[in-house]
Amino acid sequence: MTTSTLKLSLVFAAVAAVAQAPAFAQDKVLNLYSARHYQTDEAMYDTFTKTTGIKINRVDADDAGIIARLRAEGAASPADVILLVDAARLAVADSQGLFQPIKSAKLDTAIPANLRATATADGVTWTGFSTRARVIVYDPARVKAEDVATYEQLADPKLKGMVCTRSGSHPYNLSLFSTVVEHLGDQKGEAWLKGVVDNMARAPKGGDTDQIKAVASGECGVALTNTYYLARLIKSEKAEDKAVVNKVRVMFPNQGTSGTHVNIAGAGVARYAKNRDNAIQFMEFLASPYAQDYFANGNNEFPTVKGLKIDNPAIKAMGGDNFKAETVPLGVVAKNMGKVQQMMDRVGYK
Ligand code: FE
Repeated sequence: MTTSTLKLSLVFAAVAAVAQAPAFAQDKVLNLYSARHYQTDEAMYDTFTKTTGIKINRVDADDAGIIARLRAEGAASPADVILLVDAARLAVADSQGLFQPIKSAKLDTAIPANLRATATADGVTWTGFSTRARVIVYDPARVKAEDVATYEQLADPKLKGMVCTRSGSHPYNLSLFSTVVEHLGDQKGEAWLKGVVDNMARAPKGGDTDQIKAVASGECGVALTNTYYLARLIKSEKAEDKAVVNKVRVMFPNQGTSGTHVNIAGAGVARYAKNRDNAIQFMEFLASPYAQDYFANGNNEFPTVKGLKIDNPAIKAMGGDNFKAETVPLGVVAKNMGKVQQMMDRVGYK
């Protein structure tokens, strides 16, 4: 075939494609708004495209940026799937009507109900595809394991002057506190928050990794962190990170009671999705063992698919391969979030 006939046949192919329908073009694209940007996720997206022929156009931003963009775009938004990190943020997006409910037998079977939005007659708006646990790290030179066995104990006067956290209003803390208040009730919940504030070694600042480092340096005796931040330090080759890991211990709290708080990274189909079927196909793909390995393991998280365990030496090293996770529906977070923020304002939790 000469170059010109090749070009011509490509033109015919293009015309044929157009003639086939707008549905054809529509079938082959997925617009993904993502607050996750890990290299491992990209390899997974490539596989999705290769196996389905659906090209993924990705818009990356942080959670707040994605929510702002979706609100600005309104009904004209090209977003098909929205990927966010943290149940509190998913709940905010949901309450602002940014998702549409979907029905998927595959997702219903694969993902536990407490890791998805509460189902209605129309279906489910968002689904969790990985979990991370919010654990306690402590300095074994100053704190006994039995004194940090529960979140409730963070308010015990025994830990006076020792507790460190990032901002209380950060979604990771807001989500945890919302579930603690759910367990304790409003009155005891607010008293607990006040007790935590009274025990602080310093005003909240920095991210979770900063809290772990502050425990290692002796500035704090006890801190809260998501498991993957600790896993990153465990996997790090840097001598200073290894030194940090050696100095701290980790506790998966509430093993004897309600279980350790887990949060999620999750996704939902956008309210105005133009490629709805592709979006549902992508959501179902994220629940496949293959994608779960990339999605969860790539960031040292846990898979959400029932019965699926993933081998991760850093998670194993911290005892995270077998723990009791809290089963409070993450939808509860949405219900309690505003109330808990007001409680924090009252007790001076910055
Ligand atoms: Fe994080």
